[in-house]
Amino acid sequence: MKAEDVLLKIETCGVVGSGGAGFPTHVKYQTKAETVIVNMAECEPLLRVDQQLAERKAVELINGLGYAMEAVFAREGIIAVKEKYHKVIDEIRPLLRDGMRIESLKDVYPAGDEFMTIKMTTGKTVPPGSIPISIGTVVSNVQTLINVAGAMEDKPVTHKTITVTGNVKNPITVTVPIGVTYRQLLKKTGNDINDDDAYIDGGPIMGKMLPGLDFSVTKTSGGLVVLGSEHPLIKIKTQPMDQIMRIAKTVCEQCQMCTDLCPRNIIGHRDLKPHMTIRGVNYGRMTESQVIKGAMLCSDCGICEMYSCPVNISPRRVNQALKQELQKQGVKYDGMLSKEDPLWEARMVPSKQIAKRIGLKNYYDLQAPLQESNLEFDRVQIPLKQHVGAPSEPLVKAGDRVRTGDLIAKIREGQLGANIHASISGTVTAISESGVVIEKGGVRE
Ligand code: SF4
Ligand code: SF4
Repeated sequence: MKAEDVLLKIETCGVVGSGGAGFPTHVKYQTKAETVIVNMAECEPLLRVDQQLAERKAVELINGLGYAMEAVFAREGIIAVKEKYHKVIDEIRPLLRDGMRIESLKDVYPAGDEFMTIKMTTGKTVPPGSIPISIGTVVSNVQTLINVAGAMEDKPVTHKTITVTGNVKNPITVTVPIGVTYRQLLKKTGNDINDDDAYIDGGPIMGKMLPGLDFSVTKTSGGLVVLGSEHPLIKIKTQPMDQIMRIAKTVCEQCQMCTDLCPRNIIGHRDLKPHMTIRGVNYGRMTESQVIKGAMLCSDCGICEMYSCPVNISPRRVNQALKQELQKQGVKYDGMLSKEDPLWEARMVPSKQIAKRIGLKNYYDLQAPLQESNLEFDRVQIPLKQHVGAPSEPLVKAGDRVRTGDLIAKIREGQLGANIHASISGTVTAISESGVVIEKGGVRE
């Protein structure tokens, strides 16, 4: 298939990066690259979805990789997978085509940060303030590539596979229509809803706290982690900013552990020095340019906050605040790549150790098996913005009947975005700026 035909099908079917970023794939693939990497590191403790899908849908994954390589004219396709996932490797190996290979990764965090995945598989470093294509590389997630393969058969993205885990009686990985709420998801998977539970959308470390359960599963959702609201990890994630700043000011002992173990710093993004950022903030030297600008290089991985700091300071949250401020001011990072730490590989943190440190030891080995059949739901609320770019433009109105896979919202003229399709058959019962509600009934499949 010609590259432009591949891109058109990806665009038509609404494929976006499903690992969390949500960048429209037809735009990401409008480039030329040497290498496409399948990011199957899945380094967040507790999430299982990528490895399970890769094992179950190995053929689709390899097809998707093949199409991605065609789209960007890549010579090389690398499957980056943790060496402990033997079953996945066994499934994939016989399917490899010319130019494809498996690179196995150590079980360390954050192996799934795409800069680290590239470093660990190719030895190359993405320069600070840059993106993977600057070194001829495109990185895609497992579900994204399975969706790319589906798009070649004109199957739009209507469902998402997601792990439900943590303090639940039935940890499981299921495939659900996009737009079901987390409340529906918990009920349908036989899990209880408790008032004193807290919910994380995504992995336990980098995922965001959910303020409630009436939010929808989108094309980028990967996990629902349930923990008691008093769990130490929840305490860290919900700490107010003024408290973080107060602790930073009073107890930072400048031990530099946050910098010594910062994954981006150790691969050569040396302007990111969290201990110096904290020092700069404490002494009111917010304009101390390169150190403060270095905050823009932070990947949000949370190692400093959840593992390195002996006194519970969160350089990550301070960096987030600085990044927002610098972006508002229109500041751009302009530093250079420095020499990597010769011990960078040895400094990466074993996943099990970080899980233990943040109180997830008891959940670490939960399997959350992948359920074969898709779950059925009677109602979905499908957000019009599930991707980077502008919200999609609705094409339906209340009372319209739709079938699974029908186009219900399209990319706005001249804007970055993605098409959105009905995830169940039924009647559109409400439509607003935020989304389209479809309820079952009135339509024969
Ligand atoms: S690890 Fe904590 S105490 Fe040490 S320099 Fe960093 S923020 Fe300060
Ligand atoms: S969260 Fe902390 S450890 Fe991770 S990249 Fe940012 S500063 Fe470095």
